Parts: sequence; C-alpha cells; structure tokens
Amino acid sequence: MAKDKSENEDLNILKENISKDGKIILKDDVYIIVTQAFCPNGHNLVGCGKEDFDGYPGICVKVANDEKEGMLELSPFQGDHSKRGVTFPQGTKVKIKCPTCGVEFPVVGRCKCEDGHLHKIYLNPKLNDAHMIVVCDAWGCYFSRLIDDNELFSEFIDEE
Ligand SMILES: [Zn+2]
Ligand SMILES: [Zn+2]
Repeated sequence: MAKDKSENEDLNILKENISKDGKIILKDDVYIIVTQAFCPNGHNLVGCGKEDFDGYPGICVKVANDEKEGMLELSPFQGDHSKRGVTFPQGTKVKIKCPTCGVEFPVVGRCKCEDGHLHKIYLNPKLNDAHMIVVCDAWGCYFSRLIDDNELFSEFIDEE
C-alpha cells in the first residue's frame, strides 16, 4: 500500500526513520504519521500546539462556532481519531480554521454523516490535491481521515 509511494516527489512516506523532510511516516509498517500539514496559505499546522501524541506533535487547527473558539490538536496518526483542546457538543457545526492566518479550510464535499461537510487540509506545501486530510465540520463525526490517493478519496465522499 503506502510503501509504493515512497518515491513520490510531492510526498515522502518514510519507513521508521524520522526525517525533517518527511511529510508522512510509515511506522513499523502500520502507522502513517503526518509530520506536516498546510492551510491554503501555506502555514504548517503540525507542531504549533503543545500537545504530544505518543511522541509526535499534533495537527493544530482553530475550531469555532457562534459562541466560542479554541485551539484543537488532531492526532497525527492515520486512523486515530483522538483530539485534544477545545470541545463542543456532539454534532455542533463548527468552522475549522488555520491557527496562524484564520483562513477556513476549503470544502471538498458532503460528509456521509447527517449534515457535515468535509474540509481539506493539504499534506504538502505545493497544496497538491492528491495528498490531503479531510476533516468533517460536524463535531464528533468519525469520517474524518487521512487521504493519500484519489481512490481512497472517492470511497467515502458522499457524491451529490
Ligand atoms: Zn494559514
Ligand atoms: Zn461528518
């Protein structure tokens, strides 16, 4: 699977060795760990918070609704839905923003949950659509996940 992508120019998937250049790390052949993620203006979201996920910095975003706003850190591990920081009632529609410039992440489509939309976070500074994380704006939705190719992408987007 992800191993085949190790020579992709836009995205380094490294096996076990942690590199400053790595965007995604494949750990013990099992875990994919995001080490860089970008807003549409190119700000890196990884490591601007203070949380630690099993030794790795989280993916930091600002989350807001009409009543409050706060920092949230998402686990950098693919498939791990843990997050730390601000919380909202289950199902609350929230805005997901860059903590540095405040831009909202672009919508890529409807989520399979009731009324959520998926927003994309780029995984490389070239803002290439082939590699992104999508995050649902319905608080507590579990469809948010790491996307690393278009096939996987179409698998779970609810086509309109
Ligand atoms: Zn930004
Ligand atoms: Zn959703």
